[in-house]
Amino acid sequence: MKIAVLSGKGGTGKTLVSVNLAAVALDSVYIDCDVEEPNGHLFFQPKDLQKERVTVKLPQADPELCTGCRTCVNFCKFNALAYIKNKLIVFNEVCHSCGGCLLFCPQKAISEKEREIGLIQSGISGNVRVVSGMMNIGEVSGVPIIKKLLQDSRKENKNVFLDCPPGSACMVMESIKDADYCILVAEPTVFGVHNLEMVYELVRIFQKPFGVVLNKCLEEENPAEDFCLQNQITILEKIPFDLELGTMHSNGQIAVRKHPKYKELFLNLLKTVSKEARHETASDT
Ligand code: SF4
Ligand code: SF4
Repeated sequence: MKIAVLSGKGGTGKTLVSVNLAAVALDSVYIDCDVEEPNGHLFFQPKDLQKERVTVKLPQADPELCTGCRTCVNFCKFNALAYIKNKLIVFNEVCHSCGGCLLFCPQKAISEKEREIGLIQSGISGNVRVVSGMMNIGEVSGVPIIKKLLQDSRKENKNVFLDCPPGSACMVMESIKDADYCILVAEPTVFGVHNLEMVYELVRIFQKPFGVVLNKCLEEENPAEDFCLQNQITILEKIPFDLELGTMHSNGQIAVRKHPKYKELFLNLLKTVSKEARHETASDT
């Protein structure tokens, strides 16, 4: 089963939930798709690390063959090409590596070269295989890294927990594409509702089964809970505002490995999510 954990912004507890769920499961894979700022590995401190470069293909024109016809420039919908002063210029940052210009060049003047945009690091931490995508500084999109992470995860027959990037843009869309179930993490504030609405819309567009974890709950009004009740959204768990839990998380410790009460909390959440996901899968068939 593949569980994606997402939230409309960073800092809501997305990593807290995904890291602790992966750690409390018997045998699992944690995948950090938050490739711009991956931090799951800081909690797991995985051993036996392996690293793999992630590259994309970029076009390059042979000036001997290029006639300056501009067919490639006109074809490229991303405006990644320009023909200036008798030379084809490629704007690397906006090229989507679709390969179209290469196919359409009448002179066969375009070939491809590899450009590194990041890496994938994997290792072991107890019962968890920890895989992190890491995008190089200055890159525009981590989508190719997320694609590679998910492609590799298709071979897994364990429970996979995807720690998604914050927000609801294309990197999040890519991360939840294969998910069997989505957990939306929300804070008990008006801002929390706004961010929850964003990911709520997203999972509905993708027709993914989902439920909400309300984090940092106090014994007072909770606008995010009200939103869930008004929209008949399943509340999977309410995690209390807890100084001890917050301190452990801030210190890079995995709560379920430190304290039985948190182990119980996240075991309950895992059971609820598994039940919900099985129920959704059964009602789909
Ligand atoms: S399509 Fe080929 S020949 Fe024409 S400008 Fe582009 S690279 Fe040069
Ligand atoms: S590979 Fe695709 S996106 Fe990149 S320059 Fe060529 S046509 Fe444009």
